[in-house]
Amino acid sequence: MQKICSLFFWVFFILPVSAQVCPILPNPVVYQLANGQFVCSGTLLIDPAGITPDIGLAIKDYALWTKGITVAPFVQNSMIQFKKLQNVVQDSYSINIADRITISYSSEASCFYAWVSLLQLAEIEEGQLIFPKCFIKDYPKFQWRGLHLDVSRHFFTVDEVKRYIDLMAYYKFNTLHWHLTDDQGWRIEIKKYPLLTEVGAYRDSTLENHYTTLPRTFKKERYGGFYTQEQITEIVNYASTRFISVVPEIEMPGHARAALAAYPQFSCTGQAQGVEGLWGVFDDIFCAKEASVEFLQDILDEIIPLFPSQYVHIGGDEAPKTRWKECANCQAVIKENNLHDEHQLQSYFIGRMDAFLTQKGKKLIGWDEILEGGLSPNATVMSWRGYDGGKAAAALGHEVIMCPGSHCYFDHYQGRSSAEPLAIGGFTPLDRVYEFNPIPPDMSAADASYVIGAQGNLWTEYISNMAQLEYMTYPRAIALSKVLWSENSPTYETFLHSLISFHFPFLSSKGVNYSKTATMPELRTIRKEKGGIEILSIPAKGTMEDTLLLWEIQAAKRKTNDLLMHWTEYAVQEYEPLVNQINIIQHKALGAQIVLQTPPSPKYDNGSLTLVDGQLGERPWKGNQWLGFDTDSVSFDIIFDKPIKVKEVRIHTLHDPNSWIWAAQTYMIGFNKFGVGSGLACGYSTDETIVIEETDKKVKQIHVTIRGLSKIPQGQPGAGNTPWLFLDEIEIR
Ligand SMILES: [Zn+2]
Repeated sequence: MQKICSLFFWVFFILPVSAQVCPILPNPVVYQLANGQFVCSGTLLIDPAGITPDIGLAIKDYALWTKGITVAPFVQNSMIQFKKLQNVVQDSYSINIADRITISYSSEASCFYAWVSLLQLAEIEEGQLIFPKCFIKDYPKFQWRGLHLDVSRHFFTVDEVKRYIDLMAYYKFNTLHWHLTDDQGWRIEIKKYPLLTEVGAYRDSTLENHYTTLPRTFKKERYGGFYTQEQITEIVNYASTRFISVVPEIEMPGHARAALAAYPQFSCTGQAQGVEGLWGVFDDIFCAKEASVEFLQDILDEIIPLFPSQYVHIGGDEAPKTRWKECANCQAVIKENNLHDEHQLQSYFIGRMDAFLTQKGKKLIGWDEILEGGLSPNATVMSWRGYDGGKAAAALGHEVIMCPGSHCYFDHYQGRSSAEPLAIGGFTPLDRVYEFNPIPPDMSAADASYVIGAQGNLWTEYISNMAQLEYMTYPRAIALSKVLWSENSPTYETFLHSLISFHFPFLSSKGVNYSKTATMPELRTIRKEKGGIEILSIPAKGTMEDTLLLWEIQAAKRKTNDLLMHWTEYAVQEYEPLVNQINIIQHKALGAQIVLQTPPSPKYDNGSLTLVDGQLGERPWKGNQWLGFDTDSVSFDIIFDKPIKVKEVRIHTLHDPNSWIWAAQTYMIGFNKFGVGSGLACGYSTDETIVIEETDKKVKQIHVTIRGLSKIPQGQPGAGNTPWLFLDEIEIR
């Protein structure tokens, strides 16, 4: 019987906060601290001579919103002077804080960025404002610094969107990618087609629990909402006072179920269906016939004047070709235009929108699927399925915005704890976002010049309210802001230091429900030298210098050998106590040596111990607790210290076709006694758990080969691709 012991009971870490850490995030290019402080009374007196009245209003409003600081013009004895510079780096600024404050800037936006940096430096004590004397010089690295917001799956009010914008501005984001339409709701008023919002903005039910939790249940309640054109303008204008450009996304030809619920005549079948209450990808998309093209161009005609942005996003992702293949209208378009297939039809369809938008003086953006069948001449590509789409587009001389799921999908889990709220899947912790580089290492400098930036994507299937939206966005968005803004890159530990010391308190003061996951200790299993496993509490990377952590681990002597951990943090933040729990299943292979002949994909390589750590991979899967393989066959050996009797082997695989993950199909298990073969079990099983019963074999080593499907079957998400094979616990009894 293995024993689990807890190593720490009461642990204290107390170290002072370094004075050298820059309070400004994203980090400025130059931050030189001088001696002393600039102290003034509660109101900042500015000389309005160097700025326009619009900037004056913007900085006044933002000072009040962020820190409750009042600003007043006062020429004779101002504390702050502004100077507009010519012929300097775009959007650059500098701040000199000595006996007074001088802000030099190159553009209105950079004046605002300087102001944001100044506000981040400001400390308020007993009604006085205190700034460290320093010199700052700064400019952005990338031109596109975006956050995305899906308001279709869940709706966010005008005030909530404004708050999202307010917070973005504090981290110098300049682009809000607003996902306004999808299968589950059409959210923007179009005057020519009123049914889009009368019908398309509301669904009758919404999926409860995770997509993969079966049987599925639905909350049978009307859900929806939309923005009038006046509200859209209000938000766009509001964003412009925070120097944020709003880019609308109108999805086509896929993700169209809400629009087609209102106007089924623009689908291939013409059959009326409701607005979707389930997440996923649906076969019914816009038909490629001329009437549908005109319908969508009419919509774009109303969209264009509402959004001053240079760009309009038309989606273009996840459009199954099932209906197009069977549709006489679509086939006629293929024939008339000498197209080869439905992929070229999609390319033709996007090309029509590209030409339309170009003629109206706008630039088209699409998800990387718009590369399939040929890229339209003026299209900008948003690369979400890894870097490849972006690399291909850049090589063709097209602008690219990088947002690979691995680093930029903030709807993924950010921690391994079972206490994390339900999310779509995937695993994108804070340090992974911080390490992100929108320029892949193998990209040439010439191609890299087409990468205009990156963005964090907030898909809201599992984000139903503002508190949850903020939890998923912050602090990951702050890590992304460093990637997008900062030329220099302080260590992750330094970043955390600044985050905990300066930014968590700010977010708390604004009532932001940010995630503290990245600063909390983690429970992790390790192999014991003499066999078996034990559980350690690992402090979060970089937190030991910053925080006073007090945690208590209690090994609860219960039947399942659960280990309960409970910690409280004092010092900077009053953290809510959080209970983390690991359930260990007892079996004979706990901590056994695993020799993998097939390497897991680096994306889902959580270490071979994953297979024998006593913890079953959770469902819905979180991107950890599993070993993921991008091959259709996986082989490995389990080696024991001494021969053991085996009655039963259980191999756990994952079946989640929506994520392109398919359970194993066949298995072959060889039992070796001291290196001599002593048995073989082969079979066929499509269950997630393969159970092999044996009659008390005594073995030293077990060889396992399992095979999955070679290709995902037609009609399933990812059809034609090799499915993922996900493995977890190998239980031996
Ligand atoms: Zn059609």
